[in-house]
Amino acid sequence: MELAVFERVDRLQSFRHVAVRGFWNVRIFALFLLRMRPLSSIPAKMPISSPIQTFLEQLHNQYKGLREGKVASYIPDLMKADPDWFGICVVTFDGQVYEVGDTRQPFTIQSISKPLAYGIALEDSGNEKVLSKIWMEPSGEAFNSISLDPSGRPLNPMINAGAIATTGLIRGHTTEQKVQRILEVFSDYVGHELEIDESVCRSESETGHRNRAIAYMLRNFDVFTDDPMPSLEAYFKQCSILIHCRDLAFIGATLANDGVHPITARRAVGSAHIESMLSVMASCGMYDAAGEWLYSVGMPAKSGVGGGILAVLPGQLAVAVFSPPLDERGNSARGIAVCRELSTRYNLHLFNSVMPSRSVIRHRCTAAQVSSNRSRPAEEIALLNKYGQSIHLIEVQGQVTFGPAERVIRELIACADSAFAMILDFSRVPQMDAVASQIFLESLAALAEKGLWIHVTRSHHLPELSCKSQLMPSNTPSVRLCWEEDADRALEFCENRLLESLGNRHCSSLAVSMENCELFENLSPDELKLLSPMLSTRSFAAGDVIFEEGQAASEMLIILQGKVSVILTLPNGFTYRVNTCTPGMTFGEMGLLDRSPRSATVRADTSILALSLSAEVFEALLNEHPLIYAKLLGNISRHLAIRLRKRNAEVINSHL
Ligand code: GLU
Repeated sequence: MELAVFERVDRLQSFRHVAVRGFWNVRIFALFLLRMRPLSSIPAKMPISSPIQTFLEQLHNQYKGLREGKVASYIPDLMKADPDWFGICVVTFDGQVYEVGDTRQPFTIQSISKPLAYGIALEDSGNEKVLSKIWMEPSGEAFNSISLDPSGRPLNPMINAGAIATTGLIRGHTTEQKVQRILEVFSDYVGHELEIDESVCRSESETGHRNRAIAYMLRNFDVFTDDPMPSLEAYFKQCSILIHCRDLAFIGATLANDGVHPITARRAVGSAHIESMLSVMASCGMYDAAGEWLYSVGMPAKSGVGGGILAVLPGQLAVAVFSPPLDERGNSARGIAVCRELSTRYNLHLFNSVMPSRSVIRHRCTAAQVSSNRSRPAEEIALLNKYGQSIHLIEVQGQVTFGPAERVIRELIACADSAFAMILDFSRVPQMDAVASQIFLESLAALAEKGLWIHVTRSHHLPELSCKSQLMPSNTPSVRLCWEEDADRALEFCENRLLESLGNRHCSSLAVSMENCELFENLSPDELKLLSPMLSTRSFAAGDVIFEEGQAASEMLIILQGKVSVILTLPNGFTYRVNTCTPGMTFGEMGLLDRSPRSATVRADTSILALSLSAEVFEALLNEHPLIYAKLLGNISRHLAIRLRKRNAEVINSHL
């Protein structure tokens, strides 16, 4: 009975125990769930609105109530436009879109087609022919004025006379052929197929007597040498192409992006013509307000009677505004206001956005401050410390055009007299134009001709700088001008030449004996004797891969003779030599310390004789000969510390 009671109590207790444990388990689980909950129930983050988008919305709000201007009425169909339509769109050269309002409302491109057609004419008929027919002087007259310059040419391609002549210079004999060509190219600008608003086109053709008069005047002055009517009809169609505000901004972004659509990557116009197109837009694009526009907004632009305005900031972005009411000069009233505001707020004025190129030199130092990763004996290090200031290292940064290039070249010339070698690194130069590349090559070749060693490093992504055939008029690159993707090798090369010029012979290939190796410093002769049979001898031929990155580490090697390079593979596929090891040095010790795979590849630069200390032997030493083990570890740590200090000094130097 008692037993039964005890048994019950016992069972009860164990039940309680289970229950209590269960209770805690449940609580822990609940707490776990509670901790989990916030993860699954984090409220969705409010999307962060770009300040640019916010500003466009502000502008839209601010100007939607503007009641200035009238919708164009001289083409009856244009009167159908709603004066409240209002869209703003900014597209960057790389295709980022900011838009607000009626950016998808179709409207006819009208005069904004003129610079695009001019680009096609330049492409189809060539500069010379186009310039012989159409000049590029702002007219100061109305867009539809019946006037020519004294030599019988239309004053520019942005007034109707010039634009009709331009369409005449587009490939094709019939209206259809020309229109097809125009539609194809315009579609490349916007990134999709475009259509013509036939109703607007008919309306314009039926009322376009003045343009007909202009076309016949052009025929009279032999700007057209045959019937101008097919070209005039093509011009009417070209003006009636339907686009929307976002399309317009993409047209501009394509121009800002050197003629290539930022999303489809299709080229709409040859790079060579963009300068001419933007020039006529800048000087004549805004009807009679071109001067005032350039003064206050400062971007090449074109507006049309459909209510569109397109402004382009080359290399950066395009602004498009659509709002049909036009001011007394024929430009969209809201469009002008918005472009002014945007230009002021974001400093978009072409003549305002040119930053002086003072920061083109990212870093400069000499070989007295930094040294290559090649390990050198003390006397070589001393010589390099003393004379290394004659090897100049210059790191160039940013986009390099004429201005920044001139700045670097000026520096090179200034230190040329006292220089032995120059290493110019271009890894932080994303782009260099042809002019800058050429003046670089000319000056580097001239410096090399004077007897300096010149190394251009990490320039493979700058084709025009790496193209040796552009070098000199004679096309004979100096042997002292070298291209090298590995900046460290370039520095080692220059150090070696300097040491040679100082009469130094490389002594780093001499063989050493075991007692002179770093790893065995402070070991007594008895300890060395004890350790010696535990090591095996290894030899490698020049070029052999001794360790491969990623391999499991099973030994460290101590070089008795020869030289190896420790090489990292960079994400771009190039290799970078982090270190060289010469006789007396140890490599492969890191993998043994943390038992992780090899972090670099080691290649024999010469034939190698080495001692191998295997992972098993190293670990066994801990128990069997702890003092030797401690001394080895101490030596490894000391030499790792020396390498780390060198790296630290380089980090500091690179921030000077
Ligand atoms: N189709 C128009 C014309 O030649 C274009 C006008 C314009 O947008 O300036 O009259």
